[in-house]
Amino acid sequence: MELYDCIIVGGGPAGLNAAVVLGRCRRKVIVFDSATYRNQYSHGMHNYLTRDDILPADFIKLSLKEVHKYGVELIHRKITSARKNGQGTFDVKDDKGTIYHAILLSCH
Ligand SMILES: Cc1cc2nc3c(=O)[nH]c(=O)nc-3n(C[C@H](O)[C@H](O)[C@H](O)COP(=O)(O)OP(=O)(O)OC[C@H]3O[C@@H](n4cnc5c(N)ncnc54)[C@H](O)[C@@H]3O)c2cc1C
Repeated sequence: MELYDCIIVGGGPAGLNAAVVLGRCRRKVIVFDSATYRNQYSHGMHNYLTRDDILPADFIKLSLKEVHKYGVELIHRKITSARKNGQGTFDVKDDKGTIYHAILLSCH
């Protein structure tokens, strides 16, 4: 069974930024993205330092280069369920029925 340190659902700016942070920390990370970004029809993004006016699609392209540089996997599929199981993993299922597992961390 392949076990990830982290499964990220959503490959927009938030998910990809989390993926870069964790990838740089040498975590085994996978991102699922159904690629319907909420700002995809915008003519230019603002308030991201050094990227004023950039098209959302160009921002994602640049971000993906950084994400791949740190060994993060990305799959363009929708996650349909996520749950803890009794064996110490967190399981997510994609829209084709494939199940992926991440280590379940407990916070004390
Ligand atoms: C018209 C418009 C203009 C905007 N302009 C700006 C701006 O100039 N500057 C700014 O800072 N912010 C702007 N925003 C806000 C902007 O959307 C956010 O800053 C940023 O895009 C949010 O990123 P996100 O990763 O949270 O979400 P999103 O970019 O929406 O990404 C979420 C991703 O998760 C995927 N997803 C969701 N559920 C699942 C699932 N179950 N399985 C797999 N994938 C899933 C979606 O398909 C999507 O690809 C704008 C928003 C809108 C609507």
